[in-house]
This record gives sequence, C-alpha cells and structure tokens, in this order.
Amino acid sequence: MARGTHDWDLVVVGGGSGGVRAARLAAQRGARVALVEAAALGGTCVNVGCIPKKLYSYAAGYAQAFEEAAGYGWQLQPPVLDWERLKAARAQEIARLNGVYEQMLLAAGVRILRGWGSLAGAHQVRVQAEHGADTLEAAHILIATGGTPTRPGVPGEDLAVTSDAMFDLPRFPRRLVVLGGGYIACEFASIFQGLGAQVQLLHRGPQVLRGFDDEVRGFVAGELRKAGLDLRLDCRVQGLQAAGQAVQVQLHGGERLEADVVLLATGRAPNVAGLGLELAGVRQRADGAIEVDAQHRTSVPSVFAVGDVTARVQLTPVALGEAMDVVERLYGEGRRQMDYAWLPTAVFTHPGIGSVGLTEEQARARCGAVTVYTSEFRPLRHTVSGSSERCLVKLLVETATDRVVGLHMVGPEAGEIVQGFAVALRAGATKAQFDATLGIHPTIAEEFVTLRTPTRQHAPA
Ligand code: FAD
Ligand code: NDP
Repeated sequence: MARGTHDWDLVVVGGGSGGVRAARLAAQRGARVALVEAAALGGTCVNVGCIPKKLYSYAAGYAQAFEEAAGYGWQLQPPVLDWERLKAARAQEIARLNGVYEQMLLAAGVRILRGWGSLAGAHQVRVQAEHGADTLEAAHILIATGGTPTRPGVPGEDLAVTSDAMFDLPRFPRRLVVLGGGYIACEFASIFQGLGAQVQLLHRGPQVLRGFDDEVRGFVAGELRKAGLDLRLDCRVQGLQAAGQAVQVQLHGGERLEADVVLLATGRAPNVAGLGLELAGVRQRADGAIEVDAQHRTSVPSVFAVGDVTARVQLTPVALGEAMDVVERLYGEGRRQMDYAWLPTAVFTHPGIGSVGLTEEQARARCGAVTVYTSEFRPLRHTVSGSSERCLVKLLVETATDRVVGLHMVGPEAGEIVQGFAVALRAGATKAQFDATLGIHPTIAEEFVTLRTPTRQHAPA
C-alpha cells in the first residue's frame, strides 16, 4: 500500500475486541499502525466480560453436575467451592490471554502505546502516558473505546458494585441482590446462585430480558426460579443503606432485603469521557454514543468508530465484524459490509438461551401469517439425574414462503446449538429443509428438525 505523509496510517484508540482486531488486520495488510490502550489488552470481553463470565459459568455448571451425579450412582462428599482458587485460576487464564493479545499485535507489527488516548484534531491523537504526553499524526483514526457500567441513580448506590468488581470480590457473597433484568443481571444471578449464593434478582419490568422472544423470557424465568433464584418482577428499589458489613435494600412498598453484595446490572454507557470528540468535531448521539454511518465513519471523515462506543449492538462478534469492515474499507477492496440481520446471541444462564432471527412478536409484525412450532420437554439426561429442568425449542416460520425466520431455545448448551442453526437461517433455510434434515439421536438439538405439528398459526396482523 502507498505510504501517506502522516507518521501513522492508522491509530487505534482502545485495545479491546474491536480495536485489537482492527489493528492486527490493518498491520497485516501493510499499514503502519499504533494502538493506544489505557488498561489491559483485550478490553471488556477478555478482562471483565465474556471470558471470565464464561469461566465462572463453567464453575457454576459443576455444582449442577455434582447434584445430578447422585442419580447416576455417584456418591460424592458435599462439594465446597474454593473461591480464592477459582479467582486465581481465572486471573491466570486472563493474564495468559493478555499476553496472547500482545504477542499477536507485536507479531503483526503493531506499535502498542500504553496510555490514555484522546483526539486532538481530525488526524491527531494525544497519548497521555505515565512518563508524559505525545501526539501521533495519523491518516486515519479508529475509536474503539468500548463501554462502562452505568449506575441507575438509586440513593446509596455507592454501596453496590458493578459487574467489573464481581470477578474479584474479596469474599464470596453468601447473599447477593442483583438489580436489573438484562443479560448481565440474569447471567450473574444464575452463575452466583449456581456457585452457592442465595440470590435475589430485582427487575423493574414485567419480565426479564427485554428484546428476547416473550415465550422464551417467561420460560427461562420459570427455570431460574425452579433452580432457586428469587426473581422479583415489577420491583422498584427505593435505596440502599449500610447495615454493618451488609447492605440493606429498601423496596418500594416497605420490604427490606439484606445482602453481602448488591450488583448493579442496569446497562452500560459508551466510553467517551475525555476523548476530545468535541474538539475534533465528532458528532455524538443523545446517549453519548459516537454517531457513525454504515461504513462506521464518524462525522469527521478520517475518524472511524466501532464496537460498544457506538452503542449499536454490544456484542464481541459485532465489534469484531465492524473492525474488519473498517480495515477492508481502508486497506482492502471495501466490499465487506457488516450485516446486523440474523445475529445469533446467547444468554449464559443455567439453563441458557440461544436465539437467532425474529421473535414471535417481530415475526407477526413483519411477516404477516406465521406458523409457530414449539416443543417443551424434559431432556433425556434428567430422566435419570432427577433434575426437574426442562427445555424449550421454538421455530417461527413465515407461512407464505416456508422460510424459518426465528429459532430459539432454552436448555443446556443453547449457544453451541444455535450457533450451527444460525448458518441455516442466514442461508434462508425453509421448514421443508429442516424437515428433510435427519436428526442426530439422541440429542436435544434434533428436536429442531423433528417438529411437525404447529403449536399455533397467526393470520396476518
Ligand atoms: P472493549 O472491549 O470494552 O474495549 C475498549 C478498550 O478501550 C478497553 O480496553 C479500554 O480500557 C480502552 N479504552 C477506553 N478509553 C480509552 C482511552 N481514552 N484511551 C485508551 N484506551 C481506552 N459479548 C458477547 O458477545 N458475549 C458475551 O458472552 C458477553 N458477555 C459479557 C459479559 C459482561 C459482564 C460484559 C460487561 C460484556 C459482555 N459482552 C459479551 C459484551 C462485550 O464484552 C463487548 O460488546 C465487547 O467487549 C465490545 O468491544 P469493544 O472493542 O467495543 O470495547
Ligand atoms: P441490558 O441493556 O441488557 O440490561 C439492562 C437492564 O437494566 C434492563 O433490564 C433494564 O430494564 C434495567 N435498567 C436500566 N436502567 C435501570 C434503572 N434506572 N433502574 C432499574 N433497572 C434499570 O444491559 P446489561 O448491563 O445487562 O448488559 C449490557 C450489554 O452487554 C448487553 O445489552 C449485551 O449487549 C452485552 N452482554 C452480552 C452478553 C452475552 O452476549 N451473553 C452478556 C452480558 C452482556 P428495562 O428492560 O426495563 O429497560
């Protein structure tokens, strides 16, 4: 590629999912790339998000397995969680991943600059490091600074923690209260309950996980309750108060709950403070997120933004996809275009949710006549384990075209199963093609190809 007049072809601010991917790929295509990171490489996903969360989810899964093992003839001593050992194992793995990220970047030829980055103009990034400040001149700048947990504005909320602190709590919480009803609230409530805490989940709305299929939301809420979670809906918190070592949570209506830890899981906001956006003329939305066009370009043509800082879809594969778009546009043929349709997602509760395509509510609004297939059953494993956990699988078919427009499940390994079916949905698979596909027996996933009798049919709305 042709060398420009700037010191750098690309300066990336933020070394999380989006930033690292963009920096590495751009450097591999011959660009001179610097990446500015204020904290640990890997960002939210590696350090305080997907990866440590999934490790703790695995840890919680063992507790379930120990319980179920008795049904299969195993005699076990009552298992005990060594919280310190779990934390240390997680920290060791995360440190390994930080190193892998660093090595990958260095091997690609990326210069890693440790410090706080901010825009000083359309082509300038100021880097504030411990030893002083420097200004980098770049042909293009990519902002990938991610997001940070928000606090809901409840009196006394400083007594509570956010998800960032949950992985390293000094003591395992015997009693945990979680505020919120989104991905993080549900996952952390389920994981910590699995690890042995008594958990109360307080959600202001009528059902958790807004945006997911209503039947799936109701089903997973029921399963979480069966597993022992005290899940309260339409529940408003008035304030938090210290009560010795504990925190008291006052609810509207007068009830008081006590917890060792209160987790605020009420959403995340884009990391834009101190970024110099106004100085460079980068436009923001009302919620602070950086405004971008379909090519992830901001209102300043030399500045791009991807990932959570644009608050479109806050998922790692989305940040990665957007980063690859930018690299393709700047240093490739520019044909790659992120498609936000058919985006699969999973919620790592126990049992988990896997989802791709439209919800039943969306399908009815967008497709006219819709045929719904569902099956709710006790998985084979639990016929002997004694667990009362049940599964739900659900297909939504556009009646006129026979195309499967939504696929959802609640059950073990939901994310693993739905990942595969996401390919079929993106490829436009019809119900007839699902029916023609042989099952793998005996599995939970085979239910998706053996659904024959519609549960209900909706006429055009
Ligand atoms: P980030 O990964 O947040 O990276 C931003 C980086 O920028 C950080 O390293 C930060 O230190 C750095 N930075 C910020 N400002 C500056 C600055 N001015 N100068 C220098 N550096 C700066 N997604 C999934 O797909 N699956 C999951 O299972 C999942 N689980 C999650 C669990 C939790 C608890 C959380 C919080 C999130 C989870 N997510 C999950 C979401 C996922 O982590 C994010 O969507 C993803 O990390 C966004 O990537 P990003 O590159 O936009 O930002
Ligand atoms: P979400 O937006 O998913 O959920 C926020 C929750 O907090 C909602 O239930 C919301 O209620 C509630 N809430 C918001 N404001 C208040 C308030 N003032 N008082 C009380 N409740 C409030 O955010 P999360 O923080 O859970 O997660 C952030 C994002 O990270 C997710 O959207 C997801 O994109 C990503 N993530 C992905 C995961 C995965 O892929 N498995 C796991 C974890 C995070 P209401 O619905 O009424 O607005």
